[in-house]
Amino acid sequence: MIDLRSDTVTKPSDAMREAAAGADVGDDVYRDDPTVNELEARAADLAGMEAALFVPSGTMGNQVAIRTHTDRGQELLCDEGAHVYKWELGGIPQLSGVQPRILDCDERCVPTPEGVADGYVAEDLHRPGTGLLCLENTHNSRGGVAVPKEHVDAAARAAHDRDVPVHLDGARFLNACVALGEEPAAMTEHVDSVMFCLSKGLGAPVGSVLAGDEAFVDRARRVRKLFGGGMRQAGVIAGPGLLALENVDRLAEDHENARRLAEGLDDVEGLSAPEPDTNIVMVNSEAAGLTGEELSAACEERDVAFAAFGEHTCRLCTHLDVSDGDVAVALDRIADAVQAA
Ligand SMILES: *Cc1c(COP(=O)(O)O)cnc(C)c1O
Repeated sequence: MIDLRSDTVTKPSDAMREAAAGADVGDDVYRDDPTVNELEARAADLAGMEAALFVPSGTMGNQVAIRTHTDRGQELLCDEGAHVYKWELGGIPQLSGVQPRILDCDERCVPTPEGVADGYVAEDLHRPGTGLLCLENTHNSRGGVAVPKEHVDAAARAAHDRDVPVHLDGARFLNACVALGEEPAAMTEHVDSVMFCLSKGLGAPVGSVLAGDEAFVDRARRVRKLFGGGMRQAGVIAGPGLLALENVDRLAEDHENARRLAEGLDDVEGLSAPEPDTNIVMVNSEAAGLTGEELSAACEERDVAFAAFGEHTCRLCTHLDVSDGDVAVALDRIADAVQAA
């Protein structure tokens, strides 16, 4: 099976399994785990932030950030396709008592300063006030769009001008940095916190990181405990996480494979796939007379797995466990599936 469902399906390498087995550990709730401490320090440094917190998942990292930045009853600004809004089980109201307000932005989900200005609500007797702006990079539901630094900075400045802090949901933040040729620390220059996943393109079996300034991370550590994310000998998962940080530069290979995959799909009669920015390919099968579900089912029979992501759209991800040879084989099988339909 060539598994293109997500970049989360990678299996830990032998080196990661050895790092798990051999990790120096302690009780991380007491801050005694040297491997977690090292991972947090290295991740903070990479993100250009003072401190970082190891969390079990990207969802927890985002929701801890939201709870830490906001007060109950406030509003949070994000775009309609934002993961924090659309794919986290309504965590914003459930876990923080905060109401999302949808930000206008263009079809690639690049936020604009005007959108932030329009969405901003000043606190008064009747209105709750805006407590946070959430940005996303790369943008998942728009197909791994890498939002350029100027756009991130401009939206963040518009928020800061109104005393609103900014959280960046960067589950695939490092994909964005590699695609744009930007240093991660430069990309976070104007945001107050950033979450990125070790378990997506970087290949770790589990874990994400939430980074920000020291005062923020101290408060976030208490919220992580509240949400049940205080972990004990977590060095066994932080060890593989440290190795994941060495997989940043190779993300360029996933992006190249995604470009070749999109090109090949676009050449199949009835399919169209725009050139991807990063490792997520969106393919439309309407002209082939196939729904996304039908296309993915026909390909699954041919041992290529990916999921529908809209009526006539499917999403395919390249990752560490997909070689350029796999891309060629997957393309042949998908073309065969479309022809047979
Ligand atoms: C995957 C993802 C998350 C959540 O990460 P999990 O580790 O699956 O909880 C958050 N934001 C974006 C943009 C994502 O793609």
